[in-house]
Amino acid sequence: MNIILLGAPGSGKGTQGKILKEHFQATEVSLGDLLRIEVKQGSLIGKKVESFMKEGALVPDEIVAEVIKQHIPKGSFLLDGFPRTIAQAEILEKLLKEKGISIDLVLYFHVPENVLIERLSGRRVCKNCGRLYHMKTMPPKQNGLCDSCQGPLITRADDNEETIKKRLAVFLKQSLPLFDYYKKKNILLEINAEGNKDVIFSRILDSLKKTHGAH
Ligand code: AMP
Repeated sequence: MNIILLGAPGSGKGTQGKILKEHFQATEVSLGDLLRIEVKQGSLIGKKVESFMKEGALVPDEIVAEVIKQHIPKGSFLLDGFPRTIAQAEILEKLLKEKGISIDLVLYFHVPENVLIERLSGRRVCKNCGRLYHMKTMPPKQNGLCDSCQGPLITRADDNEETIKKRLAVFLKQSLPLFDYYKKKNILLEINAEGNKDVIFSRILDSLKKTHGAH
């Protein structure tokens, strides 16, 4: 199955994407992760996108289109953080059509705004492997160190109060219209994404069992 993970920043797309990828043996493509790698490498694309990301604004569609074009995997995939605008959804459709692939499902992660803010402000990420933590709800075993690779845990540059507010506003204005866009195509599945990661994962599997017979 080819799945799009849709939801506000902090709605759990990244966390569930990593669990779902293992479960379905699919490739996860996180646009945010790909862009952060470009920035870290100081590439031409990295230089173009850095200031947008720092400010919590969306990177222009034509740049993200260029990045995603190079990363459409062979076989089943999960897309985290792409598309984020209707124009991007149309770009994606065109790209997939050329390859004879389609999107089977869009999972929309619904989380109240106060929970999103709480999640983003306590979020930490491993600098080496990208594993996600939360200081209260998903702390590492050893303070400040990743359980998987012992790498240092850092706060993302855009996880500060001011940028978090901006990113949520950007989501409502530019990305939420995708909810109706995919609902009309009859491929949208809404998930109550409040609670801990295991509870949410079970809810996703239950919903998929009912709608797609998945297990
Ligand atoms: P994320 O890791 O998904 O929260 O994305 C971090 C940042 O990367 C966003 O705030 C945007 O600046 C940029 N970004 C990620 N995905 C996209 C996208 N599909 N379109 C435009 N900008 C994006």
